[in-house]
Amino acid sequence: MNIIQIIDKKRRGESHTFEELAFLIQGMLAGTVADYQVSAWLMAACIQGLSLEETTWLTDLFVKSGSTLDLSGVDGIVVDKHSTGGVGDKTTLVLAPLLAASGVKVAKLSGRGLGFTGGTIDKLEAIPGFRVSLSTEEMVEQVRTLGVAISGQTQDLAPADGRIYALRDVTATVDNIPLIAASVVSKKIAAGAQVIVLDIKYGRGAFMKTLAEAKQLAETCREVGKRLGKTISTVLSAMDQPLGAAIGHSVEVMETVNTLKGQGPEDLEDLSLTLGSVALVGAGRFSSMAEARVHLKKSLASGAVLDVFRQMVVAQGGDPAFIDEPERLPQPQQILTLVSQTSGYLGAVDSLRVAESAKILGAGRTTKADVLDLGVGVVLKKKIGDAVSVGDVLAELWVGDRSQEQAMDVLSSAFSFSQTPVPRPPLVEEIYCVEPVSSPRR
Ligand code: URA
Repeated sequence: MNIIQIIDKKRRGESHTFEELAFLIQGMLAGTVADYQVSAWLMAACIQGLSLEETTWLTDLFVKSGSTLDLSGVDGIVVDKHSTGGVGDKTTLVLAPLLAASGVKVAKLSGRGLGFTGGTIDKLEAIPGFRVSLSTEEMVEQVRTLGVAISGQTQDLAPADGRIYALRDVTATVDNIPLIAASVVSKKIAAGAQVIVLDIKYGRGAFMKTLAEAKQLAETCREVGKRLGKTISTVLSAMDQPLGAAIGHSVEVMETVNTLKGQGPEDLEDLSLTLGSVALVGAGRFSSMAEARVHLKKSLASGAVLDVFRQMVVAQGGDPAFIDEPERLPQPQQILTLVSQTSGYLGAVDSLRVAESAKILGAGRTTKADVLDLGVGVVLKKKIGDAVSVGDVLAELWVGDRSQEQAMDVLSSAFSFSQTPVPRPPLVEEIYCVEPVSSPRR
């Protein structure tokens, strides 16, 4: 067997054996297969496709390329959630304490942002003192005692996915269903939780541009999980406009705190409650999503969730004073406003352009080495369907020392208007909630 034959086979649209995929992945890790050869194979796989069997083998090889988080020392059911990436998506920050306040454990390994998607770890770094790199022992201990920890993805979980993802990112091979499924499911299996909930985004600001593609990705993830012994719940949620109002780091942390105080944007709270309900049903805490949702809403209103968030910040070395004094977070130099020149109804808010605008200000990266400005970002003041008059503020631009004018131009091109009322688009399109892990039927 040699790598050129393997690349050639996929280029011709033929199926691989397990041994061929193992040769590719193990060779990449050992340095006997070069990055340019893996890149050529990735492009061939994107164009010709991978079967469910090949995707499952690839996922398994990713999992076995590293270690698995051992959560056996944690009593109770551990839940994990993963989003396929979007703009303004801070649900992890809301959901982790929300679930922990309900008695399930959350061990969340998160990533940094790259391209148009934001990263939970970057957002947490806006909190003064917050440690985002817990050791495995610290992570397990915090989950055991407090019930929740959020830390950066360690190098030793699914390292083959890390290597492949870095190549996909620079070879236009990210938005491919089998490759995304292998990447996401391998990381979730390696992270060791019993209950896995995937938030699959679709729309202009997501890798999956249509609902049909998102459904296919959800099905692929569930089936690959099943073949590898894990049941996975999936929620399909829209990314046709950013989630919530804030896009950036400090601004997203502030929006999280407001949501935990019960004063957050409706769509962010709604999605967090939906994902939370799916997780609590999967963990066997409730038999229906409706009951779970009522419980979660009460818990949010009682202040218990904000308390858990505060304790998590303290446990990870952060200063919780920002919860009541948000000005302690990194701040912009100035806040500019984008004012509407049109009246009517807001018809669309292009998530990609909003993300691009925030990135120009320093909230996003083009390469891994880029240094972020944690104080800048965009805060939307109108959402799709809202009535707009000339002079209304559409958005705030929190600016630092980077190209404000260019960012403002890109931001203004994100909004389009209609003269007739625009219905609010649905946020959640499909929910596939598995039976509880503790179900006697399993
Ligand atoms: N998120 C991941 O973790 N992997 C992908 O391939 C895409 C989104």
